[in-house]
Amino acid sequence: MPELPEVETLRRDLEARVLGRRITSCAVSADAPRLVQLVTRDEFCRQLRGRAIAGLRRRGKYLIVDLDDGRAWVIHRRMSGNLLYRAPDDAPDAFTRAVFGLDDGHELRWTDLRKFGTMWLVEDATMVMESLGPEPLDAAFTPGVLRERAGRRSAPVKAVLLDQTVLAGMGNLYADEALHHARIHPLRPANRLRAAEFERLHAGILAALRMGIEGRGSSLGTTLRDHINLDGAPGASQETVRAYGREGEPCYACGTLMRRIKVRGRSSVFCPRCQPAPRAGRGATAARRKRAAPKRRPA
Ligand SMILES: [Zn+2]
Repeated sequence: MPELPEVETLRRDLEARVLGRRITSCAVSADAPRLVQLVTRDEFCRQLRGRAIAGLRRRGKYLIVDLDDGRAWVIHRRMSGNLLYRAPDDAPDAFTRAVFGLDDGHELRWTDLRKFGTMWLVEDATMVMESLGPEPLDAAFTPGVLRERAGRRSAPVKAVLLDQTVLAGMGNLYADEALHHARIHPLRPANRLRAAEFERLHAGILAALRMGIEGRGSSLGTTLRDHINLDGAPGASQETVRAYGREGEPCYACGTLMRRIKVRGRSSVFCPRCQPAPRAGRGATAARRKRAAPKRRPA
């Protein structure tokens, strides 16, 4: 599923290929009823046609295409949305839901197996985005900022990392990676983490996201990829992940077999040795032993 590194990779590729290009045609398939938000497909295309691409930004998992009329074309890829840069006579791409013609003779094809992806055309991109937390790759994002935003939450740290209002751009894969880097169990309550652990978690978040961007994103699924790049090629980050999807395989740091648990409904893979269980859990076990002990004594 596209997260910050996959959207950032797309942003960079688009900047290199389509910045300054004019959109000459627009066609959105009727079989993607959720794709265009706020207006009809026809109205969306009428407003987009003739506009030039003036800039490309990213906020969290949102891609923001700035248009020459000052409006923003906001795109959220959700589960499986991809943009591909193709020549019109290139072979058709499976699950193409929309095609945007460009004045260089190429076209951008929007493919989306699951059809959860969404697009908006708005005056101001912030109108359609939820209230997002800081950008983890900004210089202003420090361990102190992370602690301030996450440290008041009693929820499991894994769930807090996925909360876009706490921190923008993290998803299941990079959150598992960040926690493994930081040697923090996914069920640890965020407000119980010590300052040194926030330092490690901050470093882990940056390491995981940078790994993702360097590998041009993670493409999971062998035939139906959830992320492919602008040129149609898969990313390679899934080959360097340390936690996500590695249940039952040895931890790269210590060799212990990785385990999988559900945290607030989301699958989470961790190393039981490098990422020890929350203190509360160990304390409860100790308390149970204490309570059980007197009964054994008389016998
Ligand atoms: Zn380990």
